[in-house]
Amino acid sequence: MAEFPAPNKNPEIKCTQVFINNEWVNSVSGRTFPTVNPANGEKIVDVQEGDKADVDKAVAAAKAAFELGSPWRQMDASDRGLLLNRLADLIERDIGYIASLETIDNGKPFNNAVGDIRFSIKVYRYYAGWADKVQGRTIPVDGSFFCYTRHEPVGVCGQIVPWNYPFAMLTWKIAPAVAMGNVCVIKPAEQTPLTALYTCALLKEAGFPPGVVNMVPGYGPTAGAAISEHKDVNKVAFTGSTEVGQIIMQASGMSNLKRTTLELGGKSPNVIFPDADMDLAVENANEAAMTNMGQCCVAGSRTFVHEDIYDEFVRRCVERAKKRTVGDPWSNVENGPQIDEEQMNKILSLVDSGKEQGAKLQCGGSRLGDKGFYIQPTVFSDVTDDMRIAQEEIFGPVQSIFKFKTMGEVLRRANDTSYGLAAACFTNDINTAMTFTQGIKAGSVWVNCYEVVNAQSPFGGFKMSGIGRELGEYGLQQYTEVKNVVIKIPQKNS
Ligand code: ADP
Repeated sequence: MAEFPAPNKNPEIKCTQVFINNEWVNSVSGRTFPTVNPANGEKIVDVQEGDKADVDKAVAAAKAAFELGSPWRQMDASDRGLLLNRLADLIERDIGYIASLETIDNGKPFNNAVGDIRFSIKVYRYYAGWADKVQGRTIPVDGSFFCYTRHEPVGVCGQIVPWNYPFAMLTWKIAPAVAMGNVCVIKPAEQTPLTALYTCALLKEAGFPPGVVNMVPGYGPTAGAAISEHKDVNKVAFTGSTEVGQIIMQASGMSNLKRTTLELGGKSPNVIFPDADMDLAVENANEAAMTNMGQCCVAGSRTFVHEDIYDEFVRRCVERAKKRTVGDPWSNVENGPQIDEEQMNKILSLVDSGKEQGAKLQCGGSRLGDKGFYIQPTVFSDVTDDMRIAQEEIFGPVQSIFKFKTMGEVLRRANDTSYGLAAACFTNDINTAMTFTQGIKAGSVWVNCYEVVNAQSPFGGFKMSGIGRELGEYGLQQYTEVKNVVIKIPQKNS
């Protein structure tokens, strides 16, 4: 493992423009928007604000790069893999700089930012390996025919990225798309455009041909909507809220039936059975609810605890939450600030609703300090299924603890939500684990661990948590069209 990179608290901001055809340009409107450091609420820099006109330019560039005969379409698949590996090398070279940019733009602790970027490097390398390994089939159809399938790139992929893991989510979008020979028009989240824009500089340095990856920083209802409504965009991939996911799905359908993958919200249950290893379960339940300041689509935001161990478990969760370190993301803390004032206030109002609806606030529940957007790690016990904190995605460091008696009951209650992104259980009984993993409706299910996400295995949701899967071999299916070719074989009767 490489040395841990040094932080740079004042990184030079090199990329703030729209990136089209491997060139940096100002937005057509000439407008800009500020990106803010959540640790102190101050503006870092103004970024060019793209909208429909810029998306049109970016899509035209991507479409041209995808024309048959273009350098990109003529490139060997193995060379696409080489480019992705080169990009991974450059990210490795600049990891300290990129992680520093992520910390000032997103507020996540520097150590965590490094972790996200290391993970992203693995994802790039994983998909680099796949570039020349996706094969079709030959199929023994009836009659005298040679029948085979080709897995071809879909074309122009519109990719809309959220702010909670800006660099990692960007990677999950770019890597499988270009590995399969697609071209991209990407919109990073308006809160966190900086590491995404810097990635464009590295893509160019790595040698990706012009037009293969284009990026339009800007807002959702303008630049984002222009992508999902565009008739020349063949596929849209989105990570974000379920509400916006529904808007995007509708726009995709109404424009040109884009292939659509959505990775949306969750209200994931984490179930602690009475035989669980208590230390392990307490630690994981805390981390599940509060990692990345709780700004995590798979957050274990509903901790169900068996009645036999409930009081003891709550006591220990409170003890653990009080020890959770919060503060300056450059220091060695577990939690930094929330992303912005709006999210902070939304979390605090959900905490208020929990108090009003009768949940017991065991610790936390308030803003920390008056500069930056920090929230105390918060634990509620005695939470019931009808409360807003039990139903709505909080996206903050809030653990809600519920009590249950039986497996049937907890499965029913855990599944009684429109979401189905992730779930976990803690038990030392194989039968309990097997019953739970079979009965729970979620795209990722963990036993005696939480949020184990790998480049090699699929990630995505059941129900309103999404459509399609990212990562792993499954993630590639979203970036290819299957073409069936049938060739008549003449029969000779001599
Ligand atoms: P959050 O609520 O966590 O900010 P969003 O779902 O609003 O998450 O945002 C995720 C991404 O979707 C961001 O890049 C945002 O700009 C974009 N977005 C928001 N609204 C729209 C929209 N109407 N169409 C397309 N993209 C959108």
